Amino acid sequence: MLSESDHHLQESFSRIVLLGIPWDANSSFRRGASEAPDHIRAALHSSSANTFSEGGLDLKDHPLLEDRGNLRLSEEGEVLALIERQVAGILAEGHRPLLLGGDHALTYPALRAMGAHYAGLTVIHFDAHPDLYDELDGNRFSHACPFARAMESGRVARLIQVGIRSATRHQRDQAQRFGVEMYEMRHRPWRLPMTFTGPLYISLDLDVLDPAFAPGVSHFEPGGLTTRELIDILQGMKGPVVGADIVEFNPQQDTSGRTAMVAAKLLKEMATLMIPAEAPEEEGAGGS
Ligand code: MN
Ligand code: MN
Repeated sequence: MLSESDHHLQESFSRIVLLGIPWDANSSFRRGASEAPDHIRAALHSSSANTFSEGGLDLKDHPLLEDRGNLRLSEEGEVLALIERQVAGILAEGHRPLLLGGDHALTYPALRAMGAHYAGLTVIHFDAHPDLYDELDGNRFSHACPFARAMESGRVARLIQVGIRSATRHQRDQAQRFGVEMYEMRHRPWRLPMTFTGPLYISLDLDVLDPAFAPGVSHFEPGGLTTRELIDILQGMKGPVVGADIVEFNPQQDTSGRTAMVAAKLLKEMATLMIPAEAPEEEGAGGS
């Protein structure tokens, strides 16, 4: 395991490895998220927009961003272990994974690898749903369960959930049991923790956004964040982001292609957060 000073050192030159995980076998209601990685890439490179983040990072051919394509899934029963191995491999190379789901089930094996590599891992989880079910429909690895498994594994030190608006009594009990810090939509405005010194993983379920802004998801949960609110939060965060995922985009529900562009935009902002040195110096107040 790396100490805090080690990973600060390492963060300054490590690459971001983009890896698609075309996997939705643990979706409880509707399949389709497995098609997301290629649609997000297509939106990112679409001539309808450019490849710059708002802060000035250009993702096109960026030397610190390496796209390794999509994970080739072998036998269904071994996918969890495969994802964990892949993420562990990226970390062992000294790099940082940015995973494109797929459904949210991939986050548990990802966090197993992240937590084995980084002591004191904090996870910021954006979602309409707590995903803390002990099991759903008899499946303990459902996309409704990854954060229950991650907390039980002891590999996540701190879990902060943002945008929640569907917690059941069971999930509230689970949150209390695991010491989860839950920021619910109904309790806005929040004072979110925004500055972190230890290793940070960001898990972004696109249904944290209101379905009006991101209709291409499998579970419509009204009353969510605007795209702008989420971008503002990402742009305001400070800390060593050692890994991230963007999950639950479902192209089959995205008839206008709007959600693909939202996912690509968030990918650009996430990458900017992970490569902060690339962003130009902020202008002072009143600057251009
Ligand atoms: Mn989720
Ligand atoms: Mn969700």
